Amino acid sequence: QAKKAGRNTLRFFDPKMQEAFNIRATLEIELRRALESKQFQLYYQVQVDQLARPFGAEVLIRWIHPERGMISPLDFIPLAEETGLILPIGEWVLDTACAQLEVWQKEKSTKNLTLSVNVSAKQFSQADFVRQVQAKLSRYNVKPQHLKLELTESILLEHVDNIVISMVALESIGVQFSLDDFGTGYSSLQYLKMLPLNQLKIDQSFVRDIVEDSNDRSIVGTIIAMAKNLGFEVIAEGVETEAQKELLLSKGCQHFQGYLFGKPMPIEQFGSLLKLK
Ligand code: C2E
Ligand code: MG
Ligand code: MG
Ligand code: MG
Repeated sequence: QAKKAGRNTLRFFDPKMQEAFNIRATLEIELRRALESKQFQLYYQVQVDQLARPFGAEVLIRWIHPERGMISPLDFIPLAEETGLILPIGEWVLDTACAQLEVWQKEKSTKNLTLSVNVSAKQFSQADFVRQVQAKLSRYNVKPQHLKLELTESILLEHVDNIVISMVALESIGVQFSLDDFGTGYSSLQYLKMLPLNQLKIDQSFVRDIVEDSNDRSIVGTIIAMAKNLGFEVIAEGVETEAQKELLLSKGCQHFQGYLFGKPMPIEQFGSLLKLK
């Protein structure tokens, strides 16, 4: 009976578990099809300096589902990681970002813009990841300095030695690294000095209440001071108000990202935003 129903069918006694399983199985099948049917899109969220001048963007993936509309990466990236689909999806993201950098590099007004690309731990620990990145850079003739890879502390749960080797290889050709969601993970400060990082990204959970919560203020101040001592640039994410920005600025943070400056948006809109600034 179970065999006849196919390998994606399991029988649960609890109807709620059954339903959860069915939803996940359907999502997985649809996720497999999404790439070939071009249902993914990159959104661009501006990153600005202390004078609110755009210097680049973070690319954030969106799944435009034909029936269910826009699906957040929070709702499919974990499944993509579990199933290994993150590998082809991640390669598509990298390819699309590099294609955009090539376009920008050709225009005087956009030639210095950088793109930050999120890379999951699974993707980064692929044996040929370094070669994959190099291939994209040369395919589109992109200056490696314009590409910033965002890693989270979860990367450190993998074999740290191999991670460092790959990072050093990419760093040596000029690729930049940012440590995303900093402060929310498990990393030991010991690792910070081992990794060739250019940027620490202060997680939005510390930024959110920075105006009201003196503990968050202290934590953020400490992260900024430490990053500076280690020679890393600091960027704050999730900046939504002028008051948050001013506070961060007073603590020495000089790079910002958040709704205050722009929400993630399709490339056409991002182009207009750049022209307005
Ligand atoms: P993240 O890399 O930490 O990205 C920041 C998230 O904060 C984004 O959510 C962004 O839309 C949101 N955000 C930005 N500014 C503000 C703000 O001012 N206020 C608030 N409340 N939120 C803000 P998003 O786009 O839903 O992405 C969620 C996560 O999904 C990302 O977190 C990242 O971990 C992952 N992700 C997104 N795109 C990719 C991708 O191409 N590859 C991989 N592996 N992961 C991705
Ligand atoms: Mg990120
Ligand atoms: Mg983040
Ligand atoms: Mg996050």
